[in-house]
Amino acid sequence: MCEACPTLLDKLLHKGLLVETGIDGLYGRSGLFEQVIDGFDRLISRTGADQKAEVLRFPPGMNRVLFEKSGYLKSFPQLAGTVHSFGGNDKDHAVLLDRLAEGQPWWDKQEMTDIVLTPAACYPLYPTAAKRGPLPEDGLIFDLNSYCFRHEPSKEPTRQQMFRMREYVRIGTPDQVVAFRKNWLERGQALIAKLGLPFNVDVANDPFFGRAGRVMASSQRDLGLKFELLVPVNSEENPTACLSFNYHQDHFGSTWNIRTAAGETAHTACVGFGMERVAIALFRHHGLDVDKWPAEVRDALSL
Ligand code: AMP
Ligand code: ZN
Repeated sequence: MCEACPTLLDKLLHKGLLVETGIDGLYGRSGLFEQVIDGFDRLISRTGADQKAEVLRFPPGMNRVLFEKSGYLKSFPQLAGTVHSFGGNDKDHAVLLDRLAEGQPWWDKQEMTDIVLTPAACYPLYPTAAKRGPLPEDGLIFDLNSYCFRHEPSKEPTRQQMFRMREYVRIGTPDQVVAFRKNWLERGQALIAKLGLPFNVDVANDPFFGRAGRVMASSQRDLGLKFELLVPVNSEENPTACLSFNYHQDHFGSTWNIRTAAGETAHTACVGFGMERVAIALFRHHGLDVDKWPAEVRDALSL
């Protein structure tokens, strides 16, 4: 480990695993870092192979109107990111360039586009699934992976503003969805144990905004709707959520009018894997030199 690197972020940057961009939480990644991510991705696929999930990949931006309808801005306005673009004429362009040259604000020359940044891999899925009409008897399972954006700049390398989230999402009856989450709570622990990482599982809440948010957060905890698999990475006292197990009840089913085969409002659940978080946890616990990682871990990641 590097003597002159006091923090985990410094170590990852010094070793070239992450590449600085000048913005906290926005990093490039080295080839080796990506090999670890790819290995973890394949391990997830092997673990979930029996689910026969439908693979869908969305770009890291989603339809703004659908995003507005999803309720994200009600719960997490502080995390959302929107895409803006220039829509003016030659005169506006000249003003923009003058402002740039003078170091003045130029962004009022931009307008909001129809695209927002995807906040969680499953957000674009629900309206897509809803369009298919009532669910089959067995419900549906999807396999997703997306770069996500959350405006939460931080010096902790595990809290990034643009990061990848792999997910399995279950849409079905309450029984199907609850069984899925229970099953993945077990599988997730077995998977992380295979990687030789210390962990614990705990009830959790999302960072709902404001005063109303505090009520939502405590009700989410009381109802046990969110569990996280936590690995000590930056510190022992505040371990990092590397996997999440979320039961949304009928929140997305009623927002998007997704119906079960019997015509009831569908319930949904998802298991989310923080790809960068798990990779960084591996570097933290097994060292920055992948060649020296335990053989079982290298095997599990096909490294
Ligand atoms: P969540 O929707 O908050 O449950 O996030 C799903 C998973 O994504 C979490 O378990 C984390 O592993 C990962 N994650 C969430 N926020 C971040 C972030 N800011 N940086 C990196 N990974 C994150
Ligand atoms: Zn999700």
